[in-house]
Order: sequence, then C-alpha cells, then structure tokens
Amino acid sequence: MPELERHSFDVLVIGAGGAGLRAAIEAREHGMRTAVLCKSLFGKAHTVMAEGGIAAAMGNVNSNDNWQVHFRDTMRGGKFLNNWRMAELHAKEAPDRVWELETYGALFDRTKDGRISQRNFGGHEYPRLAHVGDRTGLELIRSLQQKVVSLQQDDHAETGDYESRLKVFQEFTVTDLVLDDGKVAGAFGYWRESGRFVLFEAPAVVLATGGIGKSFKVTSNSWEYTGDGHALALRAGASLINMEFVQFHPTGMVWPPSVKGILVTESVRGDGGVLRNSDGKRFMFDYIPEVFKDKYADNEAEADRWYADPGSNRRPPELLPRDEVARAINSEVKAGRGSEHGGVFLDVSTRLPAEEIMRRLPSMHHQFKELADVDITAQPMEVGPTCHYVMGGVQVDPDTGASSVPGLFAAGEVSGGMHGSNRLGGNSLSDLLVFGRRAGAGASDYVTGLPARPVCSDEAVAEAERTAVAPFSGADGGGENPYTLHMELQQAMNDLVGIIRKAEEMDQAIKRLEELKRRAATLVVEGHRQFNPGWHLALDLRNMLVVSECVARAALLRTESRGGHTRDDYPGMDADWRRKLLVCRLSDSSVEVAEEPQIPIRTDLLALFEHSELQKYLTADELEG
Ligand code: FAD
Repeated sequence: MPELERHSFDVLVIGAGGAGLRAAIEAREHGMRTAVLCKSLFGKAHTVMAEGGIAAAMGNVNSNDNWQVHFRDTMRGGKFLNNWRMAELHAKEAPDRVWELETYGALFDRTKDGRISQRNFGGHEYPRLAHVGDRTGLELIRSLQQKVVSLQQDDHAETGDYESRLKVFQEFTVTDLVLDDGKVAGAFGYWRESGRFVLFEAPAVVLATGGIGKSFKVTSNSWEYTGDGHALALRAGASLINMEFVQFHPTGMVWPPSVKGILVTESVRGDGGVLRNSDGKRFMFDYIPEVFKDKYADNEAEADRWYADPGSNRRPPELLPRDEVARAINSEVKAGRGSEHGGVFLDVSTRLPAEEIMRRLPSMHHQFKELADVDITAQPMEVGPTCHYVMGGVQVDPDTGASSVPGLFAAGEVSGGMHGSNRLGGNSLSDLLVFGRRAGAGASDYVTGLPARPVCSDEAVAEAERTAVAPFSGADGGGENPYTLHMELQQAMNDLVGIIRKAEEMDQAIKRLEELKRRAATLVVEGHRQFNPGWHLALDLRNMLVVSECVARAALLRTESRGGHTRDDYPGMDADWRRKLLVCRLSDSSVEVAEEPQIPIRTDLLALFEHSELQKYLTADELEG
C-alpha cells in the first residue's frame, strides 16, 4: 500500500469558480497558507459559462440606480424569502467588487463615455449587468486567475517559491471532510487521473462547489454540478436551507436532443428578443402576475417604447423574473401552442439588425449555428425551460460565510439564503465575489483565533478511504451500474420534482429515491482507480442522492407556490409560509427537514418598500409590528 499523500494548509478552498477564487485571494491576502482544490481543470469551473453579466448598482447607464433599488429588486425576485442581510450586503458591495475586478485586469464593455456598460435583465429595474459581450464569466475567471498568478509572483519574490502561500490542485475530487470533535480538521479525496488518495490537513474549509443540476435530466449545468459541497456540508453536520427552490431557466435549447438544456442567455431578451408561441402571439402579456402588474407593460406598443424610453414606460413582460417566464412557457407548450420540438420561439432576428446581434450576442450566434444549424440573425430560436440554479444551500452567517460547523464556511451557489425563492439573473456572479471575499476573510479570522489546530485521526482517514473504495466491492447485493442509476435519478427528478409539482408525484419521488439509495449501496464499478469515470460517478451519486432527497422532502412540505417552487395543488403564495425556512439535516444517513422561523427583516430595510407592496408578501401581524 503506497503511503498516503498529505498536505497541510491554513485554509482549504474547495472549488475554483468565482466564489472559490475570490475566497482564496482573500485568505491569501490575510496571510493564510491557502490551497484551492478543484474537480475540473483550473479555469474550467461553471463560472466560465456565465454569459449575461454581473449585477451591480453602479448607476452608469441610469443614474437612478443605487443599492436600495438593487436590494428591493432582489427581495422581490426572491419573493421576500431572501436572507435580508445577505441581500443588503450584496447590493451594497457588488459595485466595489466589480471595480476591484478591473484592478485585477478585467475589461468590461464600455458606454460611449467610457464607463462600464450595464445591460437590462429580468427583474432588474434599471440596466445593471456589467458584461463582456455574452462571455462575462470567462472574463471573471480569467481576471481572478490573473490575480492568483500575480499573488504567486509576489510570494516568489519574497520566498523563492511561487506556491508558498497559494497553491492550486486541479482535477482533484474531495469525497469527505475530516472532523476532530465536531470541528473541521481537513479534507480527503483523490486525484482523478491516478485515483491516488490525498489528505489535506487544515482547520478551515471554504466550500465553493457550485450547484446540483446534474440530478435533473434537462439542465444547463455541466458535469461537475453533482451537489458535492451540499452533501459534504450535510455529512459534516451543517444544515441546508431553501432546498425546495430550484430555478428552471426559461430559455434552454430544446433541439437537437443532444444539446437539450444548454442555456440561451437572458441577454437575448434583455437586448430586445421576444417570446412567441406557434400562433405567432407574444404570449407573455397574458402571464403578468398581480404582484408585478404596475411594473410591466400590458401591450406591445408600450413594451417596445420602453427600450428607448424606460423612464415613461413599463418593462416588457419577457423581462419578468425567471420563474414567471418559465411557468408561462410551460403553460403554452401544455396548451398545444408550442414549437415542433416542445418549446416556444425566441426571436431577436426581427428586432435587431444582424450586425448588432453579432456584436451583442456572438456566443449565441455561434452556439445555434454550430449545434442546431439555426442562424439567429435570420431565424427564431426554439427554447424551453431547463434546470439552471439551486437557490438552496448551506445555511451560513451572512457576514462571514460560517456554517454551524466550526471551521466550515461556504460561498457562491453552494450556500443558501441570498436569493430566497428565486435568483435574479446576474445576481450570482456578484454573489460569488461579495460572499467569496467575505468567506475567505471569515475563514482567516477563524484560523487566527484558534487556540490549537484540530487533528485528522487515523480512524477518520481510514473511514473516508473505506467509503471511497466501497464501489469496487459492492457486487454482493447484485451489482448496480452507476450510469443506470444516474439516468433513473435524473428522470425521476425531472418528472416528479420538476418545474410544476404535486403531492402525489413528490411522494412517488421520495419512494423512488429510497429505492435508488438502497440500490446505490450495491453499486459496482469495474477495473481499478486509474482513469475510472464509472468510479467517479459512483462517488458523485452518493452526493446527488442525498441532495435530491433534500429537494424532494422540502418541496413536499412547502404547501404553497413561491419562486422556484410551483405546486399545482397549492397555486397561491401564502404569507405564513414566508416566515418559515425548511432546514435539512442528516441523521443516521436520513434527511430530516424541520421548519424554522425566518429572521424578521430589519425595519429600516422594510421602510424601503411601499406599504401596498409589503401587503402582497407579509402577514397582517408583521405589517402591524
Ligand atoms: P462554480 O463556478 O461551478 O465552481 C465550482 C467549483 O467547485 C469547480 O471548480 C468544481 O470543479 C469544484 N468542485 C465541485 N465539487 C468538487 C469536489 N467534490 N472536489 C473538488 N472540487 C469540486 N450567473 C450570473 O450571475 N450571470 C450570468 O450571466 C450567468 N450565466 C450563466 C450561464 C450558464 C450557462 C450557467 C450554467 C450559469 C450561469 N449563471 C450566471 C450562474 C453562475 O454561473 C453560477 O451560479 C456560478 O458561476 C457558480 O459559481 P461558484 O463559484 O459557486 O461555482
């Protein structure tokens, strides 16, 4: 048996997307010896795929914008279930984080007078998304990586070693956190290429592992979104909140089948694109909910005037928050007014000149031309909802990113609370930077204040190793194939806990998940640990199953419709439910969900809203109080 590879750091950051890199930069700047671990190649995190932009109330395009308006939009988008302190910090700090990115080397698109340009997006009252064409995530990751390299150069100048304070371990999967008396002591995992095990000893871990989309069949998410961080946190004893809220982005590709789910950015609608059904009707005017009636145009003429004169007209309903648009598309298709391949039409070709489309949406043009042989400068796109983002995640302290487990922090999509029941487009990239920075600082302060470093015991490490190799010896009960199990899981989540939910179907989903869990105990993989994707999937499935159970159990309990949780059997929003969070914890490998009270919104923040608006969301006694 080769000796276990071991490393020791002060702060471990699991994930090299926007949240992970920003956390790592902060920890290193606090003087911590910091490691970044990532499952994919460095630079290939999910963040790279972000297209539309990063939301920050800089007021460059409309000077009426400010943090208070951004805060209001975020709370409305999340239907007031957001952790208000996170929404406040986010709205206040996002502009500084965008400007800071330019000091790292990012270059955003510009207005004519040289300021950072900002575009319209669903649910944002003013043009607010700083962007780089439709490749904003790439620029974000590129500049964060550039900052990492520049810090490493500083370290080399001082110590002679580039990696003395900040080191990246890529293509490395963490399978378990190691605890010492309930405190974080390190993380255990394997090199994806060799299968060799490694122990990282560190008193603080920042989870920045992204989302859970690979548990659903139709998704915009990439292979690494298997809910690992959510599951690592649960198994370590932390709690997850808001897991019933899964965002289905309204516009994913629907054709050809091999690319079903791939995202069509909301910028297409922000830049003038409209949705039509098979009768050619711009149907979104029929789907403006009561709570948004005063903000959205109810006729085409006003909606079209808004692009040139937003001050005197209401917004087009294509720019309603994502949950509203996704449900509307779903209803049109169900009513038989969908496109040939089960979507609707998104048309920008009749709305903007071809050169303008090529300038503003180059990736979309390329994506449709290459994958579907559709020229978006001349033809409409066929689009439909796709699982995109999880609002639920690790319950954290808003200011520091600390979970309830000492030494465990979380930031980015893996954390919960910030977006309430529905995230606004563009609010994720800003969330990554605001809370990545805060979690990096929180972890550093925690380490500085520790009287002694926790220890990774041999027993805990041996247990993590036994769990990781279990799929090689699982044939006793029949030998389940991980690929079959994964397909069945994705189908069940898509069909039974998808965009529109009902009690009977979620009951069925929970039974299916129990059965899949039983079968997963007998998963078997062939061969050995080198280059073994079947084994990787078997380990990922352990995470996807527990996280899917959280989604299904919480969704069954929440008997209302709100944001990314739509119940056919409870179609209305219920003010009493707004006061409750559903909190998932693990007890003897079973998910338990408990109701806990939502923290009441601070009064000065409530005062930012008209009383008439609060009446739509709050209970009578909250309004009086
Ligand atoms: P990620 O960027 O996904 O990084 C996760 C990291 O964790 C990766 O490095 C991964 O390898 C690593 N990891 C995961 N599990 C493990 C493990 N077990 N061990 C080691 N490493 C692990 N949001 C916006 O605000 N604006 C947009 O325009 C926008 N466009 C989008 C377009 C698309 C197509 C998609 C899919 C999403 C878009 N989003 C957008 C959402 C946004 O991109 C994501 O929410 C965000 O990038 C998540 O960042 P993160 O840092 O939390 O995670």
